[in-house]
Amino acid sequence: MTNKTAVVTGGSRGIGKALVLALAAAGYQVAFSYVRGREAAQSVCDEVKALGQDALALACDVRDLNSVTGFFQEAESWLGHVDLLVNNAGITRDGLLATQSLEDITEVIQTNLIGTLLCCQQAIPGMMRQRRGCIVNISSVAAQKPGRGQSNYAAAKGGVEALTRALAVELAPRNIRVNAVAPGLVETEMSAALMGAHADDINSRLLIKRCAKPAEIAAAVLYLAEQGHYLTGEVLSVNGGMKMP
Ligand code: NDP
Repeated sequence: MTNKTAVVTGGSRGIGKALVLALAAAGYQVAFSYVRGREAAQSVCDEVKALGQDALALACDVRDLNSVTGFFQEAESWLGHVDLLVNNAGITRDGLLATQSLEDITEVIQTNLIGTLLCCQQAIPGMMRQRRGCIVNISSVAAQKPGRGQSNYAAAKGGVEALTRALAVELAPRNIRVNAVAPGLVETEMSAALMGAHADDINSRLLIKRCAKPAEIAAAVLYLAEQGHYLTGEVLSVNGGMKMP
């Protein structure tokens, strides 16, 4: 395929940044979003340029329909078409459910689950018209093996995995594959506090005794996009063999 294109949400840092760089290195033209990290997003664009590719960074809050609509309009008009959508933007607000605020619950559901639904909604019409496409949703090991204080996040990511299976059914007739990647612990800002406080406990639950590098998650996404032509409705676990407590 020539002129491969991708949209990535939350590409300014962490796994999203690794995704943008891996896709650019694989020859994709990439449009990606950030919400607060404008400078970080610009420096990702500079790194992509150094690879001889082009990337476009656009502000978008995936919780907001107008913001998502505007993001896709600009991204699609710059890319021409979208081959791959990676729904990566996500947050955690861990805490015991009994004492958690409604805001902490809804923020997590809105960013991880509603954001993914809204972005899929925007990408689908173009993919249906071109009768091909690939969507990869970033879930989490927490959907299947949640830790303490992760009810809101586990519910959101469990929803992302159910959405992945449902959308795969809906879009298969149009040659659009929908899969998810469920990382374990990955070396990013999101996991830094957790690793700092519970490194020994976490490592004792891992068969591969270290966190994943963001690039290792990006490699799994690239595999689904480029090689996994017979895969749809699946969740690929990339968690170093994480066990239940
Ligand atoms: P980071 O916190 O490092 O980065 C999060 C990214 O999402 C940033 O680019 C951020 O933008 C963006 N973002 C946050 N809120 C919004 C929003 N409302 N609208 C649009 N973009 C937003 O996270 P990770 O890289 O660690 O996580 C990426 C994905 O991987 C998430 O879905 C997460 O749940 C999942 N995951 C992560 C794991 C880990 O151990 N790190 C483990 C399992 C899953 P900005 O920089 O502008 O704030």
